[in-house]
Amino acid sequence: MSAPPLNSIVLSFEDARRVVEKQAALVQAGAVESVDLLAAAGRVLAEPVLADRDLPPFPRSTRDGYAVRSADLSQVPAALDVIGEIKAGEKLDKIPANVASRQTVSIMTGAPVPAGADAVVMVEYTSLRGKQVEVTRGVVHGENIVPRGSEAREGSVLIDRGVRLNEAAIALAASAGKSRLQVHKRPRVAVLTTGDEIVEIDAKPGPTQIRNSNSYSLAAQIRRAGGEPVLLPVAPDELHGLRRLIEEGLKSALLVMTGGVSMGRYDLVEQVLSDMHAEFFFTGAKIQPGRPVVFGKCGSYFFGLPGNPVSTIVTFELFARPILEALSGKVPGKLIFPHVRLKKEIRIKTGLTRFLPAILSGEFEHSAVELVAWQGSGDVAATARANCYAVIPPDREYIPAGEWIAVMLL
Ligand code: AMP
Ligand code: MG
Repeated sequence: MSAPPLNSIVLSFEDARRVVEKQAALVQAGAVESVDLLAAAGRVLAEPVLADRDLPPFPRSTRDGYAVRSADLSQVPAALDVIGEIKAGEKLDKIPANVASRQTVSIMTGAPVPAGADAVVMVEYTSLRGKQVEVTRGVVHGENIVPRGSEAREGSVLIDRGVRLNEAAIALAASAGKSRLQVHKRPRVAVLTTGDEIVEIDAKPGPTQIRNSNSYSLAAQIRRAGGEPVLLPVAPDELHGLRRLIEEGLKSALLVMTGGVSMGRYDLVEQVLSDMHAEFFFTGAKIQPGRPVVFGKCGSYFFGLPGNPVSTIVTFELFARPILEALSGKVPGKLIFPHVRLKKEIRIKTGLTRFLPAILSGEFEHSAVELVAWQGSGDVAATARANCYAVIPPDREYIPAGEWIAVMLL
């Protein structure tokens, strides 16, 4: 069986990202399991959560004060007759059936507003005199009341499937009485590091050997993106041994490899996958770090990420993450880069979209970003000092201090 020729497909950053997003939209999410609500944060919902009643279930007062007819306060000060008191959780039979004109009810935050009243005046603008209250400020219709069902109607979807559950979603599920939720199982992601110079971290490296750091940064990224990493042994730069481990890795839903995708004589990952008749979506992206990044499918999806540790981290984040998220059941999102003011000018060569380790500093709204001094895409020490990446478009060779630039937050 002769292997198809190796065609290089090098895309711009944006085109490469769109190719990934298109594939992510085709991905079928894996199996489902039921988890306790307390363990559901960060998981991806596999069932819609419906409102089992209106939210709020009654017109809710948002203030401590007096429930009134707003028309009664068209002229202030005004004296109203106090006909009762409603606290949060008040039994229905204790709530006055109607608040008539010139009447009012003392009401607490979170309590149901009685019929007849259409606004709540804050207690701060009132003074109680026996059975009457003097009100010194007017209110408009609806003021300080959240109408019944205005946040959600009974039976409507509160949280859709495919949503990663954050704390607000957890609160919503709790308010709908869901103590257990159906979520997607975390997909297994095979991690395969390649290179004859790479040794495992518990071995003593020889003078020219390098410890395997990529498998560990990838495992951390995979976990954070909702997957379960499975670390394979380090693959040699030799066709036979490499192929055996790639075949092993392709048994997982996703295989992420590092190293062996550059132009060197011993960069054999593409060769092996080509021999296996893999489909390649791209074999490079015009980015730095990470230019030789490879994305394809051979039964399962695979990524060949460049071996330089920062390239591995950045290319996983830019390209592998959406596929993993889709496998975990999440509706894939867009990459969004917020803008921050640049602290020190940048001079750089054009032609590649750069993702450079940077430090975001300042306080409150006074944020600014500057590049970290680094030795290039192998310098994981500099990257560990960074807290974001500055995103530099391929056509900029000089960016003055003070300009707003895009950053990628992790
Ligand atoms: P490669 O992409 O295989 O040409 O590797 C590029 C650089 O990254 C080389 O200096 C490798 O030694 C280094 N490298 C490759 N894989 C790893 C790894 N798993 N951990 C740390 N460094 C690596
Ligand atoms: Mg290598």
